[in-house]
Amino acid sequence: MLFDKFQEMADFQAELAGKDVKPFGAVTEELISATEGIVQGKQVILAGTNNYLGLSYDSRCIEASRAAVDKWGTGTTGSRLANGSFAEHQALEAEMADFYGVDHAICFSTGYSATMGMTATLAGPGDVILLDGDSHSSIYSGVKLSGAEIIRFKHNDPEDLAKRLRRLGDRTANTLIIAEGIYSMLGDVAPLKEVAAIKREYGGYLMVDEAHSMGVMGESGRGAAQAAGIENDVDFFAGTFSKSLGGIGGFCTSRHPELEAIRFCIRPYIFTASLTPSVVASTREALRIVRAEPELRDRLWDNAGRLFKGLTDLGLMLGPSVSPVVAVQLADRAQAIDCWQALLNAGVYVNMVVPPATPSTNFLLRNSVSAAHSTEQIDQIIGAYASLLDGGLINPDQAA
Ligand code: PMP
Repeated sequence: MLFDKFQEMADFQAELAGKDVKPFGAVTEELISATEGIVQGKQVILAGTNNYLGLSYDSRCIEASRAAVDKWGTGTTGSRLANGSFAEHQALEAEMADFYGVDHAICFSTGYSATMGMTATLAGPGDVILLDGDSHSSIYSGVKLSGAEIIRFKHNDPEDLAKRLRRLGDRTANTLIIAEGIYSMLGDVAPLKEVAAIKREYGGYLMVDEAHSMGVMGESGRGAAQAAGIENDVDFFAGTFSKSLGGIGGFCTSRHPELEAIRFCIRPYIFTASLTPSVVASTREALRIVRAEPELRDRLWDNAGRLFKGLTDLGLMLGPSVSPVVAVQLADRAQAIDCWQALLNAGVYVNMVVPPATPSTNFLLRNSVSAAHSTEQIDQIIGAYASLLDGGLINPDQAA
């Protein structure tokens, strides 16, 4: 039957309903600040937002957005190819290109359509895509649509990438290599220095999805490639406006002039309505703030380091390195569900990542840190995790 494949999800939903726990689609009923809200009737610290710089609630971004609504109305009612290219979009594209020090940029309506659209379009039948095994769903969706030969290399394993690239011989001229800056689940950073060196040796084109690293890493906030000093080796930077920039939308920037022809071949660019001007305006303001206020990044990393150390000191099992994504690894789904609810009861909202809701073999509570978190809030988050150990929901012998 058509619906058979949804049975596992239906069973999972029934399990959650039986426990009266709602970790998916938990409703934020009120927002108090960038880091506090009322979620399911409880006042909580928001620790699962991707709001890395707190800019979704910045008064300057809100004001820019408000002014744009007055000027442009609520939506564009068309795609960029048709009636949906407004001066705001062009200005944002010029600013994104300038930010990355390149001549070409495309803005998309979501980050998902940016990475999906670019990967689906850049490579086609007869080409090869070499992607990290832990790539985001948007990348998997895109490569599937591309028609190219798809080869996965082991997550963050440059030697495996080199081996597979070597085997391709002359075909590397038609190969797109895809990596992310910070991986969204465990917060680990790609070994981009090594990846770039391999690309230099064997050839190919490199796309880096900086969704979680733009605004977060690098001297001027351009991301993990900037932090690794290999930006000249990157052919395409992709990313999102929905995390550090606090809005919605996605981008691709490139030094290749061909991006202007590619633009009109990307279906999730051609056949979907363009970004609402008010979102473009807040994104432009957020980008200006990212460039003008590097201290926001310092604050973010201080907070990330504090949370990582606090949770490590509790003995919890975390991702491999300090990053604004701090993932706590648990034993199984039942434990993740119970801990998620206990954290909510203790006033901390985090993300739960478990199969089948995500195609992952990990059972995670995923915390995302913000520059807008106060030191006290970080300590409260640590305190809430300590209460999981005190309450016996996590055993000390289960820790790292
Ligand atoms: N790429 C990566 C690596 C992501 O983690 C995400 C979102 N989690 C996206 C792309 C899609 O971005 P958006 O949610 O802004 O559509």
